[in-house]
Amino acid sequence: MTRTVYVNGEYLPETEASVSIFDRGFLFADAVYEVTSVLGGKLIDFDGHAVRLERSLNELGIESPISKEDLLEVHRNLVKENGIDEGLVYLQISRGADSDRDFVFPDTDKVKPTVVLFTQNKPGLAETVKPIKVISVEDIRWGRRDIKTVQLLYPSMGKMMAKAAGADDAWLVEDGFVTEGTSNNAYIVKGGKIITRALSNDILHGITRAAVLRFAREAQMEVEERNFTIEEAQEADEAFFTSASAFVMPVVEIDGVQLGDGQPGPVMTRLREIYLEESLKKAE
Ligand code: PMP
Repeated sequence: MTRTVYVNGEYLPETEASVSIFDRGFLFADAVYEVTSVLGGKLIDFDGHAVRLERSLNELGIESPISKEDLLEVHRNLVKENGIDEGLVYLQISRGADSDRDFVFPDTDKVKPTVVLFTQNKPGLAETVKPIKVISVEDIRWGRRDIKTVQLLYPSMGKMMAKAAGADDAWLVEDGFVTEGTSNNAYIVKGGKIITRALSNDILHGITRAAVLRFAREAQMEVEERNFTIEEAQEADEAFFTSASAFVMPVVEIDGVQLGDGQPGPVMTRLREIYLEESLKKAE
């Protein structure tokens, strides 16, 4: 089925949508993105994604080309137009298409940001719980991982290294400590306590992370934001990751070492339930 997509104010069939070869997103990865889940035809935590988008744009000095209200409307229109019940909305904003290739940012009066949105249909998204095997790989990404840029080559390579090793994903390790997964935030559980790295420029400030930690604290679960190693993770009772597209997902094997009985643990299972329940209440 041909999707309807959105490019710079226009709704078009995907086959007719295009951006310039001089777009800085294409030439320099000079672009930011967001992925918002859709459940029951409604957007999960749209507000969280919109706030982070604004922050990413600000950090890169890209003027926000679209208001939050208009962005919500575009999201809703695409979900409706493409009949998405369960799936995702991908949004990308680049610094725009200059008239040539130049490292220097173009004049903001002349070059306006490029805005692209499209949907991805994922039937069964809410029910999918896949026990994940991870390998560890060195984190060699740049130092501003808090900005959600489209520089995703190394995360892609990490997933390919995992695949080649017969695993599903990679956890990135810097100075001996886990930073995050290739496209998710990483957690371990020890003695009922949820442990995850604290926020800094070293990791993406996950929208799902913020919600899950808030719900965990509200449910009187203990949360500790600190660094942990692969060795500590291998000895943990449970491990899991969070992301807007996978919600809360169990990690059952780390570098070939099985965690516990190799099954999704009770803490992760409870957090996933609470997350889905609470997020659906506020979906818009
Ligand atoms: N870390 C990285 C590197 C990611 O790419 C993602 C997902 N885009 C996350 C964490 C999870 O963030 P969120 O919960 O906002 O999807």
